[in-house]
Amino acid sequence: MANQTKVGAGGTASVRPAANIGTASSADKLDKIVAEARRAAEKRDQGYREQALKIYPWVCGRCARTFTNANLRELTVHHRDHNHDNNPPNGSNWELLCLYCHDNEHQRLLEASGGIAEIGNKNGSATHSPFADLKARLGKKP
Ligand SMILES: [Zn+2]
Ligand SMILES: [Zn+2]
Repeated sequence: MANQTKVGAGGTASVRPAANIGTASSADKLDKIVAEARRAAEKRDQGYREQALKIYPWVCGRCARTFTNANLRELTVHHRDHNHDNNPPNGSNWELLCLYCHDNEHQRLLEASGGIAEIGNKNGSATHSPFADLKARLGKKP
């Protein structure tokens, strides 16, 4: 009778609090942080855009194209000093430009400031797109 293996004795199938509960919640936390940061950035973005649209007439500062509610989303806020965190409430750092002129403005500035890295790449013109996410966002809206 050597066949009595004591199965029941030590067999409390241990239900351990799995380690991945910890990682799951921290990933969750990170998700939250990222989402919050994104929301804050969007809020800030909309904040200064709305401000600028209140202060300035809806006209492109370069080509003088005028805007209405129908095409307002093509009117963008350019930062004169290119610092998107510099948003004085009086609008002194903002300029309203249509998408195309805004693109040109950045292109021009890139070239004017030496554009060292761009010289060999002039035909590629899509090297620097400050509105990549803006265009994506516009695409989402009706
Ligand atoms: Zn324009
Ligand atoms: Zn700009």
